[in-house]
Amino acid sequence: MSTFRSDSPIQYVKGVGPRKAEAFATLGIHTVGGLLEYFPFRHEIDRGEADIDELVPGTNVTIRGEVTRLGGRPPAMRCVIDDGTGSCTLRWFNQPFGRQRLFRGATVVASGHVQIYNDRPELVQPRIQVFEPDALLCEQRQGTRRVGVYRGNAHIKSPTISRVVQNVLTQGRLPVPEVIPPALVRKHKLPTREQAIRQMHSPADDAQFKQARTRLAYEEFLLMELALALRRRKRLALQTGRKLHVTREINDRIRARFPFTLTKSQDTVLREIVRDLQSGRPMTRLLQGDVGCGKTVVALYACLVAIANGKQAAIMAPTEILAQQHFANIDRYLADSRVRYVLLRGKLGKKQRDEIRTAIERGEIDLVVGTQALIQKDVAFDQLAMVVVDEQHKFGVMQRHKFRTKGPMPHYLVMTATPIPRTLAMTVFGDLDVSIIKHSPPGRGRIITKVVTPQKWETVMGYVRQRVEAGEQAYVVCPLIGKKEDETGDSSIPRIAYEQRRGSNAGGLISVKATHDKLVSGPWRGLDVGLLHGSLRPAEKQATIEAFAAGRLHAVVSTTVVEVGVDVSNATIMVVEHADRYGLSQLHQLRGRVGRGSKESLCVLIARDRGGKSAQRLSVMTQTTDGFKIAEADLRQRGPGQLFGTKQHGLPELQVADIIEDFGLLEQARQDAFAIAAADPELTRPENRALLPALKRVFGEKLALIDAA
Ligand code: ADP
Ligand code: MG
Repeated sequence: MSTFRSDSPIQYVKGVGPRKAEAFATLGIHTVGGLLEYFPFRHEIDRGEADIDELVPGTNVTIRGEVTRLGGRPPAMRCVIDDGTGSCTLRWFNQPFGRQRLFRGATVVASGHVQIYNDRPELVQPRIQVFEPDALLCEQRQGTRRVGVYRGNAHIKSPTISRVVQNVLTQGRLPVPEVIPPALVRKHKLPTREQAIRQMHSPADDAQFKQARTRLAYEEFLLMELALALRRRKRLALQTGRKLHVTREINDRIRARFPFTLTKSQDTVLREIVRDLQSGRPMTRLLQGDVGCGKTVVALYACLVAIANGKQAAIMAPTEILAQQHFANIDRYLADSRVRYVLLRGKLGKKQRDEIRTAIERGEIDLVVGTQALIQKDVAFDQLAMVVVDEQHKFGVMQRHKFRTKGPMPHYLVMTATPIPRTLAMTVFGDLDVSIIKHSPPGRGRIITKVVTPQKWETVMGYVRQRVEAGEQAYVVCPLIGKKEDETGDSSIPRIAYEQRRGSNAGGLISVKATHDKLVSGPWRGLDVGLLHGSLRPAEKQATIEAFAAGRLHAVVSTTVVEVGVDVSNATIMVVEHADRYGLSQLHQLRGRVGRGSKESLCVLIARDRGGKSAQRLSVMTQTTDGFKIAEADLRQRGPGQLFGTKQHGLPELQVADIIEDFGLLEQARQDAFAIAAADPELTRPENRALLPALKRVFGEKLALIDAA
């Protein structure tokens, strides 16, 4: 029988008064349930009673020994006890008991906080029990129970937390009802929730702890995947989409637009997309694939299906430059077709803009290309059936865009060149469909990647000079614009870079301007070298990119703005200064700027920090060009939150589970969750009834499960 409910205020637990309750509150612990789910980060063996020669200052212990000396005078008292391994002083300033109780030869069990005084251990103000002399012989050690060590703070420390947890654990049954359906508990041979929580705090051994952890990780995954599964069902149930037909004729006609055969990867992905388009439900699909693997071609295919069905399509890019680039590409494929397409520019005159807008509203335009801002702000569509969102290097943010259009929800395809590891896609995008283009079109040159120290700078730049003089083109990427420390070229430089920079005294970060100056007055004297960074006006940026694309510049020195979609197939050399400041995924994106043509490319990563960790991190880049492997490594190194801002996706942070280490569990939990959602979407069956309150407890309103019950 438990005396507590999960929501009982922690103050009701033995040993917790109002003051301690406030201290617990500083850790976010308010209730018994909250305390029970505040898991230790490691365990210590509680031997019951410690040997005196093993006392560690600063810990709380219980020792047992024989009184060998008595001293002091009331109320200040001290005595020395000896347990055969050593001796320890017990000291009181305010003796809470009569002196007569302590005598030489008595056996004393004392509990208190260990200090070292004059090289000897001491317990100050210990609690004691006094026994007859021979009590030493019948000592009762408790063996090797493990107790938790908890993250504390200035107000409350681990030993207190541990003690209070033990007080709850010994109260009888814990107020932690089972949430996982019994059949699954049996199938996976899991301990019950109550057992697991006990074992997390106080396992008998490592195996028990592991078992408890596995159980709780599985539970976290199951709830998360269940939430995603229900959300997905709801989305599919509530929405109707436009049924688009893909006849053989339509398919042939679209394919004929491309001057190449689609790759196997593209075909696979197209089959997935076409199935969605024909289903009558709106597609919500994330299209992943490395830069240059042919996503845009696939997206255009989908748009052309909509258009062949007499509907409209829109392609939205994150920047104006990218929108233009998409448009230029599309123009190549559609120039002699009957498709009516426009680029919605930011700087159109009012009259022109009104004309385009009216044409779109009347359905006289089939395909609109522009930035997200423009397309959503300006335009009301007649019959929008297909929306392509190019997130480029942002991590496919699947917020629901609102379109002004008649009729059902448009189909929705989000392209991202950030390879999202399967593990993460499954958690973050568990309710979406994901298609991956695995292989790039043939005929791409290799990219050779080298990591070098700054001492090699002159040599590298001298070598690059030879190659650009022979007709190739190069990028040099640096972190910052000017000399000022906080000025950055691009907000997409990961936070980690700033943090590391602040933390180090390395200083002297290479800036774009300084590097540009150093190059043109040194190893690249006489070459035509452009400068690109985020604080240039768009027209300046555009002019430089065009000059580079047209081959009028040997090289550009740039902040990470080049990351965003410059597509110059003659560019074959990428030099990254301060490569150790970037995440691997970002380096991969930067490297993706080269290797676009058939020539062999070179990527040089200049890394200041030759420390083991950083070098090891970068060595991944020399070993593989597979974006998914790199993303997986990045995920391992930096964690999902850091990497992709998973918090923004409304998912709770996982307390116990680790999406990389526990991936096998995640897959199991996902299967189980989707099976539950399919069989009992309202979660009303008796065996599933505990799931709904558990979901609400974990997710609150975040996942909008509102009408699941
Ligand atoms: P992404 O959008 O993934 O970066 P794109 O669709 O822009 O890739 O394609 C990159 C380049 O590859 C373009 O120049 C495109 O014409 C070319 N391409 C795409 N698909 C194929 C293919 N199947 N065969 C040959 N070239 C292709
Ligand atoms: Mg592209």
